Amino acid sequence: MKPNNEDLSYIINHLGEDHSTYFNAIAPPIIQTSNFRFETVEDMRNAFKDEMASYIYSRGINPTVDILRKKLAALDSAEDALIFNSGSAAVFAGIFANVKSGDHILSVHHPYSWTIHTFDQILSRFGVTVTYADGTDTEKFLSHVQQNTTLIFLESPNSWFLDIQDLTAIASFAKQRGIITMIDNTYCTPLYQRPIEHGIDIVMQTATKYIGGHSDTLGGVLTGSHQMMQRIFKSEYLAVGSGIQPMNAWLLLRGLRTLPARLDRIDHTTQKVLEFLKKQDRVERIIFPHDPSFPQYDLAKKQMKKAFGLLSFYIKAQNVEEIEKFCNGMKCFRMAVSWGGHESLIIPKCAGMAKADFNPKDPVHRLIRLYIGLEEADFLINDLAEGFNGIGSL
Ligand SMILES: *Cc1c(COP(=O)(O)O)cnc(C)c1O
Repeated sequence: MKPNNEDLSYIINHLGEDHSTYFNAIAPPIIQTSNFRFETVEDMRNAFKDEMASYIYSRGINPTVDILRKKLAALDSAEDALIFNSGSAAVFAGIFANVKSGDHILSVHHPYSWTIHTFDQILSRFGVTVTYADGTDTEKFLSHVQQNTTLIFLESPNSWFLDIQDLTAIASFAKQRGIITMIDNTYCTPLYQRPIEHGIDIVMQTATKYIGGHSDTLGGVLTGSHQMMQRIFKSEYLAVGSGIQPMNAWLLLRGLRTLPARLDRIDHTTQKVLEFLKKQDRVERIIFPHDPSFPQYDLAKKQMKKAFGLLSFYIKAQNVEEIEKFCNGMKCFRMAVSWGGHESLIIPKCAGMAKADFNPKDPVHRLIRLYIGLEEADFLINDLAEGFNGIGSL
């Protein structure tokens, strides 16, 4: 069989790598340089003509970063990609390159916290307005589009509530009106959801999570048409200098090698943990897109190949102390933000609010998010079982 450019194994193991240029080493080198020299004035002149395809200065294009860039573009079946020093930097650049004063953005409600900050605290200073709306009802969501809407921002699924949006319907509506669509695709990764195939213009993912996979580096990715990536490269990417550093790109490349194997394992373990949670008296309701109880189950099945890793559940509790006791008692799950690494994590919603504001009647206050990592399923299930035993029955 001849490998082709769309083959997952080809992309991850071969694409973009030219071993003959680095002593036939299997692992690509970390080209830790700020600068590149030229042999002749003519060579330099030619490089300046296309800065996005030339090694001139590492705030622009760097060879180690470029290997990762080619692979991540191909994974999304996109023409091109840009890699940033964090997911938030990628979100920032993708948004800023596509709005000007007087424009309006329609965003799903509850996007990532620093996306909200960019909208509310930064863009508002430059005369850009944002409307947040529930994206689960497509028609209602799109009714918030205004004459001056230039960007629709999606996050499907988002974290905590795992709400999803109908990507095909929203992309086709936006295309007819010349509105640019952008999605935060961190939950699924390009392995399990490919928004460009649904017509979305700009796909962002936080490489910090699954691509890195080892909780040791940050990174962010934008993919889209070459024209769109060039527009972002020539303005925000070069002006802010938020491109990823070679060492961090190398760590992400290493993480990428095992991405399919890790996601596969996380998927299997997530199923086992779900089965366990469903049998617990203390669990009021689970939020998981590929569970039949999920309100948008059919759409989730249609546009996401898999749901895995992140899930939330409402714990039955009479007071905040019970939730604290449950979380504090975890020995294998670590209490932390973020996700996508080797280690399983737990975070309760009540950690983000004043204790005095806790109201057991509000289910959101009783929400707990789990991230399932690479540990053995029984290791994790025993931990949860002990946690539930520790707070007893209601
Ligand atoms: C973590 C995260 C981000 C931000 O990524 P950083 O690398 O931490 O800047 C953005 N969106 C989602 C959905 C995330 O989970």
